[in-house]
Amino acid sequence: MPMLRSEVTVLSDMPSESRCVIVKINGHGSFRRRIMEMGFVKGEVITVVKNAPLRDPIEYKVMGSHVSLRRSEASHIEVADVSAYAFDESKPETFTEEIRQTIKEKSNVINVALVGNPNCGKTSFFNHSTGMHEKVGNYSGVTVDAKVGTFQYNGYTINMIDLPGTYSITEYSPEELYVREYITEQCPDIVLNVVDSSNLERNLFLTTQLIDMHVRVVMALNMYDEFERSGNLLDYAYLGSMLGFKIIPTTAFKGIGITEVLDTIIDTYEDRADTHKHVHINYGTDIEDEIARIKQEIVKDKSIGDKYSPRYLSLKLLEDDKTTLEIFRHSDNYKAIESVAEHSRRHLREVHKEEPSEVITNAKYGFIRGALKETYRPAQHSTASLSQRIDNILTNRWLGFPILFLFLYIMFQTTFSLGAIPQGWIETGVEMLTSWFTDIIPAGMFSDLLINGIVEGVGSVLVFLPNILILFLFISIMEDTGYMARAAFIMDKLMHKIGLHGKSFIPLLIGFGCSVPAIMATRILENKKDRIMTMLIIPLMSCSARLPVYLLLVSAFFAKNQALILLGLYLAGIVLAILVALIMKKTLFKKDSEQFVLELPPYRFPSLRNLGIHIWDRASEYIKKISSVILVASVVIWALGYFPRTNEQTDIIDQQIALLSINQTLTDQQRDAQMASLYLQRSLLQKENSYIGIIGKTIEPIMRPLGFDWKMSVSLVTGVAAKEIVVSSMGILYKVEDTENITSLTKALQTEVYASGPRVGQKVFTPLVALAFMLFVLLYVPCTATVITCRKEFGRKWAWVMSIYTFALAWLVSFAVFQIGSLF
Ligand code: GDP
Ligand code: MG
Repeated sequence: MPMLRSEVTVLSDMPSESRCVIVKINGHGSFRRRIMEMGFVKGEVITVVKNAPLRDPIEYKVMGSHVSLRRSEASHIEVADVSAYAFDESKPETFTEEIRQTIKEKSNVINVALVGNPNCGKTSFFNHSTGMHEKVGNYSGVTVDAKVGTFQYNGYTINMIDLPGTYSITEYSPEELYVREYITEQCPDIVLNVVDSSNLERNLFLTTQLIDMHVRVVMALNMYDEFERSGNLLDYAYLGSMLGFKIIPTTAFKGIGITEVLDTIIDTYEDRADTHKHVHINYGTDIEDEIARIKQEIVKDKSIGDKYSPRYLSLKLLEDDKTTLEIFRHSDNYKAIESVAEHSRRHLREVHKEEPSEVITNAKYGFIRGALKETYRPAQHSTASLSQRIDNILTNRWLGFPILFLFLYIMFQTTFSLGAIPQGWIETGVEMLTSWFTDIIPAGMFSDLLINGIVEGVGSVLVFLPNILILFLFISIMEDTGYMARAAFIMDKLMHKIGLHGKSFIPLLIGFGCSVPAIMATRILENKKDRIMTMLIIPLMSCSARLPVYLLLVSAFFAKNQALILLGLYLAGIVLAILVALIMKKTLFKKDSEQFVLELPPYRFPSLRNLGIHIWDRASEYIKKISSVILVASVVIWALGYFPRTNEQTDIIDQQIALLSINQTLTDQQRDAQMASLYLQRSLLQKENSYIGIIGKTIEPIMRPLGFDWKMSVSLVTGVAAKEIVVSSMGILYKVEDTENITSLTKALQTEVYASGPRVGQKVFTPLVALAFMLFVLLYVPCTATVITCRKEFGRKWAWVMSIYTFALAWLVSFAVFQIGSLF
């Protein structure tokens, strides 16, 4: 057999103009995927175009095209040097059979590391597969240092290493540090996680750390003989599909299940295992936010991101892990990373009154409990913890739903009824401000801008702040107590029926508050498809900004059953969301949704401080995002309605006013009355011919089939900036300056009649029109902030999809309601 010129080496060491074949790609999951997507796959022939010592990047030719890799990236690719052999690029099979055979042998070496708790049967597994006879023992610490065994299996050479048993891979003991460094530094191809099936919860803790490290895992569910005898049940295939790797039951000391494990190891190594996927353990919004923050700093140093999963490093830094900090010692942004991590830890400590590492540990157990809740049935009830006992009630098959709905009912009830009190105060405040401004500022353009533009526009939104704060208070309570996770759990089956996931329930619920944080909350869903589906129906959850529109119209046009109509609108949104989801499930996203773990964190009392911080975070985010938009929009809408000041028709009226003022034949009273009527007309005509009037008139034809006039059409256009603006626009458009008495907006709407056109003289608003209008507001294009958030999270395409489909839906629904309603 011809020998390859050298042993296996790494790609970065290959000199210019040499040629080699890839035998293996090392490193964590996302790194490998990225490299493979660039064309660096096993068996591929690579020509080194230019590799100057100490120069980055290195240029390669792969699959006929030129690609450059950073030196650090290339150092993770193992290759066999084939420069000495003839090779015709157009025919990859030009290597002789012997060389190909040798390359195959070199690439068929799999390094497997046995990782697990002490006494779970690693050494027994090692002995049975390697045929070696290491000492096994029924006490901890038998395996002091690592033993390596090599054997052939199905054409593969398997190097198996029996690592010391550990309960965790932190840095508390030399064993833990050893195992951890072995995994990160030696990069075994597969980590074989051996678990003691009779002690799942504790054993799976280590597994969660392997998941964080983003390594390729195969799990041996050992001591399965005892497990079966105990009468416990575990749906391990399902558990594996949630955790993202294959689980194989084994009885290591009898050699049962060993060949299945080895077969699975080979499948996973060759990327053939279908269950293999990468899952993220969700650590809750606080931790996830800090992870994202630290990660941003870490990925600036590219070479570190190749070797370790940045998410894993961020987590470790949050745990204040000194060994991890050392990794960055020579990095240019060491100081920045250190300070970001320090800042994040301090923030978490403040919010949780607990060390971040404890919060993370709790979240890991929440993940485990969630995974086992769906898959594991113990034969007899062991002593249940308090959390489990509460869970037995709150997630009970019969009680779960009523309790959840009761909670939601209280939440909405409080949001609206309790919110009404401070709402009244703010309303009074705004009115007082308006009249104060009217008194001190002389009438003119400036006072008009200030009063009818800014105060009116911003005021109508500010009024709404109490409701938002109360809603967010409830959402924070749900999150902080751990009930939010249970709600997702209860809803899971139902959500699956419409193609969504139980976790989708959380962003949808937040959507009743505001779509912006709701869309951001879709991050808790791992799967892109689930995220997109959830995001697309979030706008149908009636966000709190739409409420002022409902309140205005319901109180103006429905004397009876006001609450019922309000509820009906919310329900209409939900029903349509279900329909949309079902349609998407049948068309856009046919693939079944994947399974993943619903974390069940322990219950805890929310601290007031904690709630305060959360509400403040949420509210300030909301206020910042929305207030700027609304302020600008108010001014723009005001200006569009204010200019131009005069036109031919107002000129005529101005003349009439001038004539009237010098008319001596009338009494003062008569003159005042006529004067008022003329001013009213003038202001109407001015508005109609202003820029906003022109816009409204242009789009009116599209809206006429829905029963909307041009003012409604304009209000809807302005509402794209933020839905509350619909109300302020209506305020600006319908309320007409009447020199004598200022009619309230409600009154103005009730009395508005068509001034021209086929319906001249008829009332603009009827209850039917109001209903169609409210439905339109419920459904049409979400506000700018939502669209921008959507674009940030999902890209331009999905932002367009969301905007267009919601508009179409709104039009169709309002059209149907108005046209069908008109028949009666
Ligand atoms: P290690 O500490 O993980 O290396 O575990 P060992 O391989 O030393 O095994 C610990 C003990 O468990 C020994 O007494 C083994 O005989 C026993 N053992 C290993 N595998 C199994 C199994 O599948 N079923 C049962 N019942 N016992 C096992
Ligand atoms: Mg051992």
